Amino acid sequence: MHRYYQKDAETMPVEKIKELQSKKLIKQVNHVYENVPYYRSLMDKKGVKPQDIKSIDDLHKLPFLTKADLRDAYPYGLLATDLKNCVRIQSTSGTTGKRVVAFYTQNDIDLWEECCARAIVATGSSNKDVCQVCYGYGLFTGGFGLNGGSHKVGCLTLPMSSGNTERQIQFMMDLGATILCCTPSYAAYIGESLKERGYKPEDNKLKVGIFGAEPWTEEMRRDIEKSLGIKAYDIYGLTETSGPGVAFECEEQNGMHINEDHFLAEIIDPDTGEVLPEGSRGELVFTSLDKEAFPLLRYRTRDICVLTRENCSCGRTFIKMTKPMGRTDDMMIIRGVNVFPSQIEAVLLNCGYAPNYQIVVDRFNNSDTLDVYVEMSPENFSDTVKEISKKEKLLASEIRTMLGISPVVHLVAPKSIERSEGKAKRVIDKRRSIGITT
Ligand code: ADP
Ligand code: ZN
Repeated sequence: MHRYYQKDAETMPVEKIKELQSKKLIKQVNHVYENVPYYRSLMDKKGVKPQDIKSIDDLHKLPFLTKADLRDAYPYGLLATDLKNCVRIQSTSGTTGKRVVAFYTQNDIDLWEECCARAIVATGSSNKDVCQVCYGYGLFTGGFGLNGGSHKVGCLTLPMSSGNTERQIQFMMDLGATILCCTPSYAAYIGESLKERGYKPEDNKLKVGIFGAEPWTEEMRRDIEKSLGIKAYDIYGLTETSGPGVAFECEEQNGMHINEDHFLAEIIDPDTGEVLPEGSRGELVFTSLDKEAFPLLRYRTRDICVLTRENCSCGRTFIKMTKPMGRTDDMMIIRGVNVFPSQIEAVLLNCGYAPNYQIVVDRFNNSDTLDVYVEMSPENFSDTVKEISKKEKLLASEIRTMLGISPVVHLVAPKSIERSEGKAKRVIDKRRSIGITT
């Protein structure tokens, strides 16, 4: 049985989606041009007028918008409606520098929550479920987004927010939570904490997890599914486009359907800005078609992924994005080789290690260094120095095979790497001067 939250939208024929997107795009470009001087001047500079946009085929004529623009226009420079129509702000987590704020009308919030409701229903969940939301509430979009989606579906919602793992576990077990919403790194931590308290995966009532807000690998998915005894689904979004729910996984667990009735997606070459054909890996760019307060046109997310439109067994017609392997900012160039933390994560988990690791990049004698700190399991901890050193070398050679460059691997004591309750910080790049993180 396939279930949808908004069947007509989610299964709309592709031609109809494109027609709808064209109609909405024309309206949105006019709205933005008339109401946002910052945007008008960008369009004028590029020599493009609203009447030049006749369908989604003209999208490429519009200028890009970047995080730098958002910081430039902070706080009110990109607001497209009267303040009296706005009811909320949310803010980015500031992972890559100064936070930016986004504004919402009530309608913007409703549409955003509907997107999250689609994501929840796509996991096979319904109003009979108990949904534990342990994304942070507050300025971060994770908590409020999934909370709103859960209400719309009619689940009993546990607004836990992040942290206080002891209480998370108590409520999860006492109230019989069936859905867990949090970052994948926090899900892994909850799994580890349950095990330490003597619980087996079948002791909890959880059926599904809805995890996002940071990159995570297929290896990580398998690890979490095993430790919690659930099916783990990916959800994607960013504050600038509303929050989580821009894209979500269906029962195939193989890429995320983008809510194309609200968001128009493109893939571009991050270096040249050239639009790439479907199936190419590149930077994801979004145009929000329905947002009233903070509509962004051609916003560069810096997330790297691939878009593909194929028939999906779930019946949804929306295009799919692959799991983002990270942001262009997360990509480290080490001795001339492009490295994403997710590639290292995949090797570690494949070699049987838990997802508790930290990557340190530095520069000595004009050469980049790559150190990977990985926790041993409590069982390995009693190994002799010789055995540990052998394991370190073995892991280093596996990473070398994957990346083409040699790291130094340090197996460290269990629990010595800080656990994350929100977005995990996997990389310390000492080559970057403090403050210049974008
Ligand atoms: P910040 O940009 O400060 O982290 P946000 O909280 O708005 O602020 O986070 C949005 C970003 O989080 C996205 O651009 C993306 O890099 C990352 N992200 C969100 N969901 C996922 C996901 N499912 N997989 C990988 N990365 C994700
Ligand atoms: Zn599907």
